[in-house]
Amino acid sequence: MHHFQYRNNKLHCEGVSVEGLAEKFGTPLYVYSQATLTDHYQKLDKALAPLDHMICFAMKANSNLAVMRVLANQGSGFDLVSGGELQRVIAAGGDPRKCAFAGVGKTEEEIEFALRKGIYTFNAESEPELIRINKVAARLKKVAPVAVRVNPNIDAGTHAKITTGTYENKFGIQFEQVEGIYARASKLKNLRLRGLQMHIGSQLTSVNPYELAVAKVLPMVKKLAAKYKFEFFSIGGGLGIIYKPALASGEEGWWNTSEAKGLLTPDTYAAKLIPLLKPLGLKILVEPGRFIVGNAGILVTRVEYVKRTGKKNFVIVDAAMNDLIRPAFYDSYHEIVPLKRNGASKTIPSDVVGPICESGDFFCKDRPLPKVGEGDYLALLSAGAYGFVMASNYNARAMAAEILVNGKQAAVVRDRQQVKDIWRDEKIATWLK
Ligand SMILES: *Cc1c(COP(=O)(O)O)cnc(C)c1O
Repeated sequence: MHHFQYRNNKLHCEGVSVEGLAEKFGTPLYVYSQATLTDHYQKLDKALAPLDHMICFAMKANSNLAVMRVLANQGSGFDLVSGGELQRVIAAGGDPRKCAFAGVGKTEEEIEFALRKGIYTFNAESEPELIRINKVAARLKKVAPVAVRVNPNIDAGTHAKITTGTYENKFGIQFEQVEGIYARASKLKNLRLRGLQMHIGSQLTSVNPYELAVAKVLPMVKKLAAKYKFEFFSIGGGLGIIYKPALASGEEGWWNTSEAKGLLTPDTYAAKLIPLLKPLGLKILVEPGRFIVGNAGILVTRVEYVKRTGKKNFVIVDAAMNDLIRPAFYDSYHEIVPLKRNGASKTIPSDVVGPICESGDFFCKDRPLPKVGEGDYLALLSAGAYGFVMASNYNARAMAAEILVNGKQAAVVRDRQQVKDIWRDEKIATWLK
C-alpha cells in the first residue's frame, strides 16, 4: 500500500499535509513517503524469505541520497550502471559489497573504481567487456567477480522503450552464446565467475514473462553453476506497479496499488518463482527499481492558468517535461489529483500541460478532471520512479526540490536548484570577451 491519502479532503503524505509542504517549499515539488519505501522493500524481502536472497535496489529509478539511505538502512544493496552511481552509493552510506554493476559501456576507470571498492559483481554485457575487466583486475592484482547477463529473448510485453530481453535490444548476451563465453572467460585468470544475470524489462504486470524466462534459462544455470561454482543467479528487476486506477472503481480508485487483484505482487511473483529457484541452492538476486519507489513519490504542481480554446480545456501548470519526462518519453499515464477535494463530482476533459515550448510537454490529454483554477495545487501520482532522476534544465528551468516525509516529519532532501547554478559550469570563450 502507499501512504498518500485524503484526510478531511486534503491530500496527505503520511501525517503531513501536502498543501502545507507546497506552500512552505514552493512547486514543482517532489514528495516521498518513507513508510511506503520501507513497506515495499519489506514486502518483497518477506516474499522472498524462503530463498537465500539479496535485494539490489535499481538506483537509476531514484538516486536521491536520502531515499537510498532509507533503503540501505533496511539492508538493501544497489544495482548501478555507472561509476557516478557507485560514488552515490558511498555518499548515501550504502555498502559496495552489496552492489551489482550493470550496463553495456563500463569504462576502464569505472571498472577500476568498482574493483577497488569491492563490489559484489560486474554483470557483463559482452565478451570484450569481460576481457577488459580481466585486464584491469590483473593490473590491480585483483580477482574480479563477474556474471554474464543473458538475454533470454523473451518479450516482456511492455513498452518498446523499456523492453530489454529480446534480440532487438542492446542488452546482454544471446542465450545461445552464453556457454561459450563462460568457457572462454574461465581461462581468464583474474575473473571469478560468480553467477549469471538476466533482466527482461520494466513495468511487467504479469508474472508470466518471468516464469518463461527463468524456465528457459534454468537448465543452463544449473549446468554452469556446477561447472564454475556459481554463488548467485540474478533475475533482474521489472516488477510493475499500478499507474492507472480502475476507472470504474469510484473516487478512491487511484489509491489502488499492485495489491489490486490479478496483478503482479511480491506474493504472486514469489509463489511462481520460488519453486523454480529454490532447488538451485544459489543466492537469488533481485533488482527492483520502480516497485520500491514508484508509488512512494508524487510531483506537486501549481496551476498557473486555465485556457479554454474552442476544442480544449488547457490546465497550464508550473511543472513541465523537464521535471517529469515520462508522459513525453514513454507515453506514460500519471494519475492527477487535486490536493484539496471539494466534493463536486463534475469533471471537465482537460489537458494538463507545462510551460515548456514543446508540444510533448503535457501530463495528460482530454482527461476528465475536477474544475481547477489559478493557484490550485495538483499532484501527479506514482512519480517516485524515473521522475526526478530524469530531470533536466531544458528552457533554463531550475530543478525541483525534493522532500522526504516520515510520519509527521518532513525534510528537504534536495534544495530547489538556484537558477544561477544552471550555468555555473559554463564559460564565455576568451575571444568573445
Ligand atoms: C532498469 C533496470 C532494473 C530496474 O528496473 P525496474 O523496472 O525499475 O524494476 C533492474 N536491472 C537492470 C539491469 C536494469 O537495467
